[in-house]
Amino acid sequence: MKTLDPKLMPVLEEKYAKYWWPVEYPKDVSSDPFKNLVITVLSQNTSETNCVRAYRRLAERFEVNPKVLANADLGEIRNAIRSGGLYNIKSKRIKELSKLVLEEFKGDLAPILALPKEKAKKRLMELPGIGDKTADVLLASQHGYHEVFVVDTHIDRIAKRLGLVKETAKYGEIQEAIKHFLPKDERTGGLFWLMAKYTCRAQTPKCSECPLRNICDYSKKHSQPPQCQDCSVLKKKISLRVL
Ligand code: SF4
Repeated sequence: MKTLDPKLMPVLEEKYAKYWWPVEYPKDVSSDPFKNLVITVLSQNTSETNCVRAYRRLAERFEVNPKVLANADLGEIRNAIRSGGLYNIKSKRIKELSKLVLEEFKGDLAPILALPKEKAKKRLMELPGIGDKTADVLLASQHGYHEVFVVDTHIDRIAKRLGLVKETAKYGEIQEAIKHFLPKDERTGGLFWLMAKYTCRAQTPKCSECPLRNICDYSKKHSQPPQCQDCSVLKKKISLRVL
């Protein structure tokens, strides 16, 4: 199985540190699982800037806890998070999740997150709208971002292109392959994600400038064979003679 050559880490640092998350997340979010859950819902299909803006507006209007949001007026939640996009769906989901966290977990997700990882994930995924990714965002804050590597669309794409997994691989398989591929430090995981987003782009991957092109299946399959200098000179001469 492929692993990231440690020699490439300074290269990733040099190329991608400039993209490192410029948006500052509210300080109390990572230590509070419910707030983390709300911001994860808000982050779906929008930019980080809009997500954080929507969260801050929500937090200005309401105390972000399950009891308050379960009883809040849906229209007011909707107005508060408008800048985050998909506000109709997201406001309903936030209210619904608040009610469920209140009813099923007595308003506190911390004891669930303290369960063994697999058990905690299963319990979290029983909540509506919580899939692998959202559950892992919550679990990562507890177990670390390498241990619970979140597989989003960028990671799915790059794992398949690199050939770490087959095209048909599912979430858990990709997660395991990435954990094996990357060293344990979280900084490298972040830089790798930035590389997936900015270099291994969905439509036009920039393979020629990618630090991983030498080990990448996609790049090998799609790159032109290297041109021999002598052959191209010869070709030119022949075509001139034909003219
Ligand atoms: S070489 Fe191309 S396809 Fe492979 S990881 Fe880099 S950008 Fe993605």
